[in-house]
Amino acid sequence: PLSLVWFRDDLRLADHPALTAASEKGGKILCVYVLDTSDAIRAPGGAYKWFLHGALEALRDSLREHGGDCLILEGDPVTVIPDLVAHTGARAVFCHHRYQKQARAQDEAVAQKLDALDCAFNRSHGTVLRNPESVTTKTGTPYKIFSAWWKGFQALGTPPSPLPVPGQLKFQDVTLKGKKTLKPCALGKALLPSKPDWGKKMGEYWEHGEDEAAELVHDFAHEALGQYDTGRNDMAAEGSSRLSPYLRLGVLSPRQIWHDCKDKGRTPDRDTYLSELGWRDFSWYTLFHNPELPERNLKPQFDKLSWRRSPKQLLAWQRGQTGIPVVDAGMRQLWETGWMHNRARMIVASFLAKHLLIDWREGESWFWDTLIDADPASNAVNWQWVAGTGIEASPFFRIFNPLRQAAKFDPEGDYIRRWVPELAKLPKESLAAPWEADPETLDKAGIKLGRDYPKPIVSLDEGRDRAMKAYRQTRSS
Ligand code: FAD
Repeated sequence: PLSLVWFRDDLRLADHPALTAASEKGGKILCVYVLDTSDAIRAPGGAYKWFLHGALEALRDSLREHGGDCLILEGDPVTVIPDLVAHTGARAVFCHHRYQKQARAQDEAVAQKLDALDCAFNRSHGTVLRNPESVTTKTGTPYKIFSAWWKGFQALGTPPSPLPVPGQLKFQDVTLKGKKTLKPCALGKALLPSKPDWGKKMGEYWEHGEDEAAELVHDFAHEALGQYDTGRNDMAAEGSSRLSPYLRLGVLSPRQIWHDCKDKGRTPDRDTYLSELGWRDFSWYTLFHNPELPERNLKPQFDKLSWRRSPKQLLAWQRGQTGIPVVDAGMRQLWETGWMHNRARMIVASFLAKHLLIDWREGESWFWDTLIDADPASNAVNWQWVAGTGIEASPFFRIFNPLRQAAKFDPEGDYIRRWVPELAKLPKESLAAPWEADPETLDKAGIKLGRDYPKPIVSLDEGRDRAMKAYRQTRSS
């Protein structure tokens, strides 16, 4: 009997429980990806789509090397998958669980239709380290704090070892002639930017395939992992793994990374790294138990906070033109590469939500559109963490000082010089706060503030005081 393997956020062949389960059935396999054009799920952002294009092409190449292919269709999966089952006579569909409310509802609708077609719908957990329902407190309620959840997570033992690529894959060809509801997707047209083609620049920074990603893990485990504890905070260095886009689309599974790093032996650096991978799982866990996470403050008292509306300042933030160099460096790194250093993400997010007092949802949605690793769980958990509105959150009075952050995490100014090149000639001491430099220093570097680089759009002290006042109001009354 024929089985469908429905690829979603798991664009790989190794450690793919759904593919393994389908191959173990012994029959032929048809691989399919459906580009969701329904409006049931939040439309993906531009940068994510660009990365998805490369990852799907790479998945197809890998499947072709194994004698197969991946059918790429577009439409509403709730219609497309059952139609494909009816058209091909498949007896089972294999895929991985999804944890977002809307995606779960979609899967339930597919399950019902498949049931009516007498086709089995087999879902396994293949995109996280652990099923979010498996880690619970003694009373069965979900954890709210990462450290407690992490203890509960670790108490369950090591996550299972990754699975190899199944050995005996037998594929089925299919012709869709005359089937109007099964519409092949023109990938380039659907996913790549047209004009301007900003993807070309991003292509200089990223490869897409499973083999390339496995090599990145290998290199990271042998090199940067040994200094991860300190290296991950140096914004100019390549001290973190940069694996988030591969994890987002499942080009790599978290279990593969976990075991590759675990095998390097126990060190504080390795333990910190594994706990960061834990944060990814914790984010999906939090989204699973709080489906409204990307839209609502998890601490309801923050519903009282009066955010400022300033389209002009929001645009300056988005374009990296705030006049605060470390903030602008982060935002420009994001725009050019589709990725931003974690420390920079915290700095720019705090600046938006606190110094500018602009609603964190504006920032979340800009990140959603511009990050290649944008996901509904990590993005929202982290924005709510920085804004102080989440269940596990940095307290409201913790306002990152961009100047102190730059001094600590970009001490030589290399990150600012790299991403804000118009300031590159300034001496190190003046880079983070050019408005404090004396006129002679600015002259010497050929910079006139307001002409070559913006003056700060907000005074850091005033922005901070305004935020403290607004946040205090959420605690009274
Ligand atoms: P490493 O330091 O090498 O960490 C390894 C892996 O652990 C990462 O690839 C990631 O999967 C996971 N991880 C690390 N830190 C976190 C964290 N704080 N939360 C969740 N997972 C983490 N990450 C996303 O994957 N998608 C997002 O949309 C996203 N949005 C963010 C928004 C804000 C405001 C902030 C402050 C952080 C956000 N992060 C997001 C988390 C983090 O910044 C990135 O995961 C990390 O920078 C990716 O780089 P890396 O792979 O080199 O990380």
